[in-house]
Amino acid sequence: MNTENQWEMTSLSQNTRIAMSVADLLTGDAGMPVLRGEMRTHEPMSRHTSWRAGGHADHYYIPADLDDFSNLLQGSTHESIYVIGLGSNLLVRDGGFRGMVVALHAQLNDLRLIEQNQSGGLIYAGAGVACAKVARFAARHNLAGAEFLAGIPGTVGGALAMNAGCFGSETWKIVERVQIINRSGHVLMRQPGEYKIDYRSVDIAAHS
Ligand SMILES: Cc1cc2nc3c(=O)[nH]c(=O)nc-3n(C[C@H](O)[C@H](O)[C@H](O)COP(=O)(O)OP(=O)(O)OC[C@H]3O[C@@H](n4cnc5c(N)ncnc54)[C@H](O)[C@@H]3O)c2cc1C
Repeated sequence: MNTENQWEMTSLSQNTRIAMSVADLLTGDAGMPVLRGEMRTHEPMSRHTSWRAGGHADHYYIPADLDDFSNLLQGSTHESIYVIGLGSNLLVRDGGFRGMVVALHAQLNDLRLIEQNQSGGLIYAGAGVACAKVARFAARHNLAGAEFLAGIPGTVGGALAMNAGCFGSETWKIVERVQIINRSGHVLMRQPGEYKIDYRSVDIAAHS
């Protein structure tokens, strides 16, 4: 997840420039690695939200993997970027989004057990993994604490961004550490103590 960045809307003139840089990125003309994910233009956001409503995003990108996402971020520094998961907490306006939506659902979907001992275990879950899948995975490995995730119809990335919760528990109560990618495309490791975590809200802590 990335709460470090403020994703902002761009003006129309910026947008014209961005269309050029997207073309450059796809062909590698800008001296950047060629993107390996799927780029769509004028994508109806109604296809990607639980409410089945919302206008078009100028660009919609499904990264192939974390490296590809990093290349996209490094090569599109002027573009407004908005990351989404399963769209279960999104209301997109009819006017759509002037910029690029990056969809992580079903991408960045690595889910594995990192360690397990007498007192518990540690699971690595990519941002695009569905929360219910994490709950099932934990149960299969006899790990308690992640049951509530079965009730959240979103991704791990969305749950981290929202501090999603139900049945008396919430996401950040079970987080050991997070790997984030910043707007410059650099991957960093962060600890929960570096965030200000509240009811359905997460922000970078002032001291970080
Ligand atoms: C029927 C229904 C029941 C629900 N029940 C609950 C509930 O019990 N408890 C609860 O807390 N919520 C609930 N929700 C709300 C929603 O499911 C959660 O907020 C969920 O965590 C959103 O995840 P998502 O992947 O769908 O995120 P999205 O809706 O795609 O995005 C939500 C926000 O998270 C950000 N985001 C998403 N992925 C990332 C990422 N990888 N990195 C950075 N930012 C990201 C987006 O930019 C956006 O601001 C419910 C929704 C529905 C439709």
